Amino acid sequence: MARERQLPQLPPLPRMSRRSLLGGAAAAAGAATLTATTAGPASAATRAADVAIVGAGLAGLTAARDLVAAGKSVVVLEARDRVGGRVVGLNLAGGGVTEGGGEFIGPTQDRIKALADSLGVATFATYNTGNNLLYKDGKKTPYATDGILGSVPPIDAAGLANAAIVQATLDDLAKQIPVDAPWTAAKADEWDRQTFETWLRANAVIPSAKFLFDVACTSIFSAEPRELSFLFVLFYIAAAGNAANPGTLERLTETANGAQELRFVGGSQLVPIKLAATLGDRVVLRAPVRTITRSGSSYVVTADGITVTAKRVVVAVPPPIAARISYDPLLPAARDQLTQRLPMASVGKAIAIYDTPFWRADGLNGQVVSDTGVVSSTFDNSPPDASYGALMGFIEADEARKLDAASEAEVRAAVLKDYVTYFGEKAASPTSFVLQRWNNEAFTRGGPVSIAAPGVLTQYGPALRAPVGGIHWAGTETSTYWMGFMDGAVRSGERVAKDVLEAL
Ligand SMILES: Cc1cc2nc3c(=O)[nH]c(=O)nc-3n(C[C@H](O)[C@H](O)[C@H](O)COP(=O)(O)OP(=O)(O)OC[C@H]3O[C@@H](n4cnc5c(N)ncnc54)[C@H](O)[C@@H]3O)c2cc1C
Repeated sequence: MARERQLPQLPPLPRMSRRSLLGGAAAAAGAATLTATTAGPASAATRAADVAIVGAGLAGLTAARDLVAAGKSVVVLEARDRVGGRVVGLNLAGGGVTEGGGEFIGPTQDRIKALADSLGVATFATYNTGNNLLYKDGKKTPYATDGILGSVPPIDAAGLANAAIVQATLDDLAKQIPVDAPWTAAKADEWDRQTFETWLRANAVIPSAKFLFDVACTSIFSAEPRELSFLFVLFYIAAAGNAANPGTLERLTETANGAQELRFVGGSQLVPIKLAATLGDRVVLRAPVRTITRSGSSYVVTADGITVTAKRVVVAVPPPIAARISYDPLLPAARDQLTQRLPMASVGKAIAIYDTPFWRADGLNGQVVSDTGVVSSTFDNSPPDASYGALMGFIEADEARKLDAASEAEVRAAVLKDYVTYFGEKAASPTSFVLQRWNNEAFTRGGPVSIAAPGVLTQYGPALRAPVGGIHWAGTETSTYWMGFMDGAVRSGERVAKDVLEAL
């Protein structure tokens, strides 16, 4: 049985101009829903298009938008019954929606912002009024986010001095990384021979300073410092900017003036939902691609319930997930071995809903940095009107892996225990609780991003974006700026569409 599903339909717009595309998006906005409900044809479908796109995350959808705007025919094949991939809205029992994946945007993330603006999705400031909370060695210390040290947790003076030097060093070294080819940095070999852990042990010598970078590492990558190549970490920092503003560690970690500054009104998944609505029946849901086969000068892309013949293929899924598709002929060894070596990090998100954001009355902004617990960093995920309170906690790296096999009730109990430790007894009784465990999600199997251990970028980096015949690679992991973020996904979609248009 074919299981093809289609999004709420707009009329097919085969040669749509950019202007009419964006107009269509605005018109479609009201009709958008979180998942498709329209049943597709009952028998296996075949289609022909200039370009077949695998994956209806932000990268695949953006590529489709640009190709359609240039007059090309596209079919986007999406494995899930919804668009957005790592960006998903979770419906709450009492109404409202909260984000289970990509959520925040910030300065220099110009392309996701431009996309959201074009679709009429507004932003609002992440709640950041009041004190942050440091929980360390069993002690709670509130601290201002706008103190002379910015929002650096109040550790001891020696640790702060050490941390300041380490941070400045990281930013300086990151400036030596070409974001389009980090493996060509003059010291790439030296940096790709060590883990972030090794480098931190040699440089963050005061334990409290090391603690700050350990927490920063798990917050940014959902990976432990021992899992990451130092070159990869420097690249990630370099990528946290744009052509006019070099990346900085601070931009990765901060709320005000950083990557956590803004959220989307109505939830981040509105962006891919509205974008997909402009593409109408070009987006096919419940169509996991199984094989990509070259046939003369074109490709046959076979998904459950539908086969698409296309001149070019864009694979817009994370590298280790792209490796689960069968390619005929086989991909070059470098490309396949690259995808064997870029695992997803480990992450979950737990959101507890309360009648009110009660921590605000205690002068807290809901953001915690902790040295213990299953949740070591939290945010206030309440809606802009604060009509209910939402505490969002990340479950990351080792802590996420420990809970992969735990029941939802066990995870809930562990998370709420942490929330009570941080915010008091009121946190024990949420009105509802939602959990998104990415390690257990088909078609993602972890998150927020693929990570590189030592030796991967210098040995295999060039295979990250290089097309293989008519197969092109997109997805946030292929982006030069904001790799790992929604902005990087959009940038990669824009880049791949240009590449494909040049090649067609
Ligand atoms: C917990 C979490 C928190 C995050 N927080 C933030 C944040 O605050 N800010 C931010 O900017 N970013 C954040 N991110 C990262 C951001 O969500 C991603 O970088 C971005 O959404 C990636 O988009 P993409 O299109 O590259 O890939 P994806 O979103 O992974 O899209 C790939 C799509 O391909 C589909 N697919 C996979 N295999 C197949 C197949 N064989 N056939 C067909 N379809 C297939 C998938 O179902 C998916 O829809 C977060 C991610 C997670 C998981």
